Amino acid sequence: MSALPVREKLAILSDAAKYDASCASSGSAKRDSLKSGGIGSTEGMGICHSYAPDGRCISLLKILLTNFCIYDCSYCINRSSSNVRRARFTIDEVVRLTMDFYRRNYIEGLFLSSGVIRSPDETMGEMVEVARRLRLDEKFSGYIHLKTIPESSPELIEKAGLYADRLSINVELPTDEGVRKLAPEKKPETIRLSMARLRRKMEEKAEPTLRTKKRERFAPGGQSTQMIIGADKTSDDGILQASARLYGSYHLRRVYYSAFSPIPDSSSSLPLQKPALMREHRLYQADWLIRFYGFSQPEILAGSSDGMLDLAIDPKLAWALRNRGRFPVDINSADREALLRIPGLGTKVIAKILATRHHRRLRLEDVGRLCHSIAKLRPFIIAEGWSPGALTDKQGLRDKIVRSCEQLSLF
Ligand code: SF4
Repeated sequence: MSALPVREKLAILSDAAKYDASCASSGSAKRDSLKSGGIGSTEGMGICHSYAPDGRCISLLKILLTNFCIYDCSYCINRSSSNVRRARFTIDEVVRLTMDFYRRNYIEGLFLSSGVIRSPDETMGEMVEVARRLRLDEKFSGYIHLKTIPESSPELIEKAGLYADRLSINVELPTDEGVRKLAPEKKPETIRLSMARLRRKMEEKAEPTLRTKKRERFAPGGQSTQMIIGADKTSDDGILQASARLYGSYHLRRVYYSAFSPIPDSSSSLPLQKPALMREHRLYQADWLIRFYGFSQPEILAGSSDGMLDLAIDPKLAWALRNRGRFPVDINSADREALLRIPGLGTKVIAKILATRHHRRLRLEDVGRLCHSIAKLRPFIIAEGWSPGALTDKQGLRDKIVRSCEQLSLF
């Protein structure tokens, strides 16, 4: 396998890395000059778009060190029993690829994950060595995200934090039962212990040292995790509960949700179909409401009959429809917390509303000019010259809003 040309290894190991969602795509339209014979490409082999901790969209070389793996997680294409083409980069190859791509301005950083070769420590040791060489030998100051292996030694994970901007440890599945069933070599307790250690180390390093009075650099982008959804029967409510625990216990920057992809020759305990991609999207929206809109986790699905997010409407609108007694909200006098609850209003629009209110009262048309559409929020607000009257409590309101949003999406 070592005889494979680097380009071929890149094709195999970038494709194998695509199942990792913890560096989310920017969602931009794909441009590829390979067909046109032109120049430039937003989707080159191994290059993905991700958001840096400061919110910038950056291009990353996203690869696995190897897709060989001694573990046999049944949902994973790289599991030991899977019949896929295997490849393994050397440390030198990853360093050279990263530097070549970086110098040509193709990428701004590296996302490196790996199957487990021989032992967790050996694999983690190689990943740390890639990051060390990039930082110290090549003076690389781009972004580095390392996917760490929870079973590896704490010393290695600590070393990884010295060179990486972000570290992540996958929880794999929302429940311990799911992990035991589908990833039998992994232990939920070990995963949690690694996350807790990482949190402690980050807090420790955030304190200025006695000698230099400066903070030591240690994974400044924090830690994140990824959870596969749809591989087991956990409801969206169960998934959001697991996320809330993870955010609360380990101060994670992000929980990424990755829709399970059916793989060839998979175990009969796995579903044959991929969950709707919209489910992943709704989970991200719900996660966003909890982190930035003041919603508590239990509120999101309180009153839902099956604990699942409505795929046709966003979770804030679904919550508002179940809590109509809290509406309409007066756009000209409500505090920020109440405005954050209005469907269709994002934090930026709310900031503009609050700023405008200092000078004058807002009419429905003014709010309409600030948002994409007022179809969603019209039944839930009072504005100068506008009151929804009985519209807020109207039967069939959900379907009416869905129809207007569908019509809008046609233009
Ligand atoms: S340890 Fe990672 S790469 Fe290996 S089978 Fe499990 S999920 Fe796949």
